[in-house]
Amino acid sequence: MRQMITVLGATGSIGKSTLDVLARHKDLYEVFALSANTQVDVLLQQCLEYSPKYAVMVDEASAKQLSQSLKQHGSTVEVLTGASALVDIASDPEVDQVMAAIVGAAGLLPTLAAAQAGKRVLLANKEALVMSGHLFMQAVQDNQAELLPIDSEHNAIFQSLPLGYGQDPSCKQQIEKILLTASGGPFRGWGLDALSKVTPKQAVKHPNWSMGQKISVDSATLMNKGLELIEACWLFDVKPSQIEVVVHPESIIHSMVQYVDGSVICQMGNPDMRTPIAYGLAWPERIASGVKPLNLFEVAQLNFELPDRQSFPALDLASQAFEAGGTAAAILNAANEVAVAGFLREQIAFTSISNLIDETLNACKIEAADSIEAILAADAWARRFVEGKILS
Ligand code: NAD
Ligand code: MG
Repeated sequence: MRQMITVLGATGSIGKSTLDVLARHKDLYEVFALSANTQVDVLLQQCLEYSPKYAVMVDEASAKQLSQSLKQHGSTVEVLTGASALVDIASDPEVDQVMAAIVGAAGLLPTLAAAQAGKRVLLANKEALVMSGHLFMQAVQDNQAELLPIDSEHNAIFQSLPLGYGQDPSCKQQIEKILLTASGGPFRGWGLDALSKVTPKQAVKHPNWSMGQKISVDSATLMNKGLELIEACWLFDVKPSQIEVVVHPESIIHSMVQYVDGSVICQMGNPDMRTPIAYGLAWPERIASGVKPLNLFEVAQLNFELPDRQSFPALDLASQAFEAGGTAAAILNAANEVAVAGFLREQIAFTSISNLIDETLNACKIEAADSIEAILAADAWARRFVEGKILS
C-alpha cells in the first residue's frame, strides 16, 4: 500500500523539495493533495506531474484560474478554495502523512488539524508550533499523531537523541544539553550600525541554504534561531537553559546532543532539505533523497563560535517570550511576521525588526494560550500593533 501524502505549501521551497523526494519513490508514496496561496503556474505544473486528487488555492481568483487551466489540459484534479479547504485536505481520512510547509501563522489551522486527525505530521512550519506549543503537543498526544521535525536542526536532534526519548522518562537523565547550530546568516560579524543599512536583497541571500523570503530574513536577524529555540523546547520538552546556540558557519553539522558521559552525537550532511524530508517520510527507515554525498575532504574545516546577542537581539527576545509563556510566543511570532513584511517592502530598517518585536512584547497583555481562539486573538492584536507602528 502506498502512503497518501498531502503537501501544504507545495509551491514553496520546502514543498518543491518534498515533491522532488516523492518523485524518486512513486512505488512508496502517492500525492493526495497539493496546496498553494497564489502561484497558479507552479501549482498547475505540479498537478499535471503528480495528479493529486485535490489542489487547494487559498486565493479564490487563483483557484478559478487553476481550475480552467487544468480543464484545458484534460486533467481531473479537483480544485478547492479557501482556508477551510486546507483543513479538509490535512485531515481527510484517506491521508497518511501531511507535509506542513506553509510559511507563517497561515499554516497553524491545517497543521493542527493534521495532528488532531492523528496523521504523521512532517513539521516544517515552525511558526505553527511556536504559536500553539502546548495545544499542539497535546493534540499530537491525544490523537496518537506522529510528529516528525523537518527543520534541519530539529531533525538532527531527533536523530541524535536516544531511542525511546519522549516515551521513557529515564532517557532525559542521559542528556546534558542540546547544541542547536546556527549558520549565523549573511551578516555574521556585522555591528548594529552596518546592520541598520542592509537592504532586503542582501538579507534574503543566505550563504548556505536556498529558502523562502521570510525564513531567509529570519535567518539574517537570528529570529529563525529564536523560533527554533522555542520549537526545540516544545518538541523535546526542555527549557531554553538546556539549549546552547552554537554558530557553525559551514552548516554541515545540523545540531548535536551532549550526553552526561561526555559523548556528543551529531548529524551531518550537505545543507539540503531533502535529507530531513526523506527521513521524515520514511522514518524509521531511510530512503534515497537525491542529496549529494558529503565530501569531508572538500569541507576540510568546521568552525564554531558564540552568537552575537547584542547585534542580533532576536535570539534573546524569543527565549524571553517562551519563558513568559501563554500567548507571548504567538505575539512574538506575529510581530516578527509583520515587521519582516515591512522590511521587505522597505518601510522599516533591518534593525527595526527586533526593536518592533521588543516594543510589542513590552506593550502586550499575555493571556493563557489554552484555546485556538486565544492564540488567534493574540496574533491579531500583535499584527495591528506592529502595523500601526510601521505606518506612524
Ligand atoms: P516559501 O515562501 O518558499 O513557501 C511558502 C509556501 O506557503 C508556498 O507554497 C505558498 O503558496 C504558501 N503560502 C504562503 N502564504 C500562504 C497563506 N496565507 N495561505 C496558504 N498558503 C500560503 O517558504 P519555505 O522556505 O518553503 O518555508 C516554509 C516553512 O518551512 C516555513 O515555516 C519555514 O520556516 C519552514 N522551513 C523552511 C526551510 C527551508 O529551507 N526553506 C527550512 C526549515 C524550515
Ligand atoms: Mg532550521
